[in-house]
Order: sequence, then C-alpha cells, then structure tokens
Amino acid sequence: MIPVTRTFLPDIEEYTVYLDKIWRAGHITNNGSLCRQLADDIANYLRVSNLELVTNGTLALQLAIKALGLKDEIITTSYSYVATTNSILWEGCEPVFVDIEPETFCINPDLIEAAITEKTSAILATHVYGYPCDVARIQQIADKHKLKVIYDAAHAFGVKLFGESILQHGDCSTLSFHATKLFHTAEGGAVVCKDAEVTKRVFLMKKFGHIGEDDYLDIGINAKMSELHAAMGLCVLPKVQDIIASRKKCSGWYDEQLEGSLLQWPVPPVGLEYNYGYYPVIFPSHDVMMKVRHALLDNDIGPRRYFCPSLNTLPFLTPELKRVCPMSESISSRVLCLPLYVGLSKAEVDVICGIIRHTLQGGVML
Ligand SMILES: *Cc1c(COP(=O)(O)O)cnc(C)c1O
Repeated sequence: MIPVTRTFLPDIEEYTVYLDKIWRAGHITNNGSLCRQLADDIANYLRVSNLELVTNGTLALQLAIKALGLKDEIITTSYSYVATTNSILWEGCEPVFVDIEPETFCINPDLIEAAITEKTSAILATHVYGYPCDVARIQQIADKHKLKVIYDAAHAFGVKLFGESILQHGDCSTLSFHATKLFHTAEGGAVVCKDAEVTKRVFLMKKFGHIGEDDYLDIGINAKMSELHAAMGLCVLPKVQDIIASRKKCSGWYDEQLEGSLLQWPVPPVGLEYNYGYYPVIFPSHDVMMKVRHALLDNDIGPRRYFCPSLNTLPFLTPELKRVCPMSESISSRVLCLPLYVGLSKAEVDVICGIIRHTLQGGVML
C-alpha cells in the first residue's frame, strides 16, 4: 500500500537516549526539561517567541479561543479539517462560514466584512495545506471591526512569507504536531501568541489554571505535553530541513509528470517559502476525481479526500449555520491529496502519475 502519508520515525536509538534521560530524571510530565528544551528549540527554529506546547492541535485551538476570551460568532473558513469548526462549537461559539479564494483555498477576504455582525468576536482562518491566508487584508478588517484573529496553522510549520514566519500574524496561531503532520511529536501541538499576556493565560490554562501549591488562578484544562512526546519532537526537529527537502523533491516529480494535464493546483502567493506539507490536486469534476481515486485504490494507492466535506455542510450543524460556500463545496468535491512522505520513490510517483494521466485521458486501467 502507498498511503497518503507515512509518519517520519527517527532512529530508535536516538529516541532511547532521551528515554534514558527521562528514566534517570524520574520526571515524565508537567513541564519537564525535555518539554522546555523542545519549546525553545521550536521557537528558535520557527523564529517566534511566545510559544506554548500543548497536547494536540485541537486543544491548541480551544485554548486560543478561551485565552482570547472569544464568544458568540466566529467567522471561519469552510475549507479546512473538521477540528477547526469543532473547536469553535466545543467552546460554545458559533461558526460563521465564509467561502474561500480560488487560488489559495484560504478564506476569501472579500467576503469577510459581509459576514460581520455585532456578535462577531473573531476571525479563525486556516493556512490550508500551508498556503498562507491573505494576512494583511485580514488584519486590516480585524482592526477596523475590533476583532481578534486566530490562524489554524496546523499545516504551516516552517512556512515563511517574505522571509518571515507566517506564525507571527494574528493574535494566536495554532500548530499540530500529530503523527501525520510534517513535524510531529506523535500527538502534540502549540499555541504561538502575539501578546505575552495571552501566552501567560495559555500557560496557566493548559495546567488547570493552577500554579504552585495552592494558587488556582483561572479556569483551566489539562493540555500539557508529556516528556515522552517532547522526546519524539527533539528527535524529529533536527531532521525537519531534510524532511522538507525530501518532500520538495517528491513534489517536483509530481509537478513534472502532471504538467499539462487537466488538473488544477493551488497558486502560491508571491514571497512564499513553502513547506511541501501536502500535494493537493483538483480534478475537472467530481466524477473524474472519483474515477481516479478508484483507479489508484485498485492499485493499492491511497490518496485522501482532504478536505471533504466542505465544513459548512457538516451533518451535525444546525440549518442556520449551513451557509452556502460554492467555491469551497466545489473544491471539496474534486480534490485529492496525493501520497507525499519521506521515502516515497520516483518509481512510485511515476506509477501514481501514470494512473492519473491514463484515467484523465479516458482510458481504462487493467
Ligand atoms: C490536524 C489538524 C488539526 C488538529 O490537530 P490535532 O493535533 O490532530 O488535534 C487542526 N486543524 C487542522 C487544519 C489540521 O489539519
């Protein structure tokens, strides 16, 4: 089976060196030394300050919403992973879906203002596939209407725009270090904040709002990262540049072989330094996508329909929340993410592209 992604695993010997340290220290969670080291190393690598490690990318979103004190309506993208919407609903807020741009598949800033009401507290947008939202325009709109901005940056580890980390935009950016992501700690995540006060709140909230022996200062939850997860991160982080380079090479093979086909790709904005986190392609129609998907599955290749369904159509939403988002619904019905991971071979990409081209040309695979 060629899956859509394969978790990068470091040499087990490297991991056991950290396990030895953990055993000797006898300290496996509660902001241990490996967690502190990982937080510093990630902040240095990404060139950001105000970073708090957490248990996963979903709790990162929930903590950002909580720490910024958001309530009522949150304007959000219809095109992302379901965790973006779920975190809004879970925090008792209302997602107000706004459609996406046809180039980057990120929230369309032209449509945001029409969705603002006196109950709007924030904009929560996703840098989907690691392609940056129009951060300048979104900030202008937020400033004008006094809204907070959160970016779900689960796909955007290491992404830069004009040489600067994309994570510096908005009041908070959230990261996921899940095993399927470019950089991972098995399960994990982080919140990056603009403001030191908000960072402090996240720090407090992720550990029950409790510090010292007897101080219970704020409402909190348990979203701490363990030392075992931090150890995985410390093994993977030094490899991230190689991981990105290797994924870039695979993406280049796809580009070469699929060029001139009927496919459509996201259009990177000017100034982007991409992380090659995903290789999404858009087919001319839903039927063609499904044909290609079946042809690939018949050959033991597992692309994924990232992201489908369009979030405004999630079955558990109340009817009022299901605003139509034609662009997002159209892209969702036609997209596939192709396999992309360290160790994917040129020969495998050749096979995948052969099947895609053949199916697009109306051929029948044997
Ligand atoms: C993976 C992902 C999340 C959730 O992260 P977890 O670490 O799995 O909780 C949130 N948003 C997006 C866009 C994601 O892809």
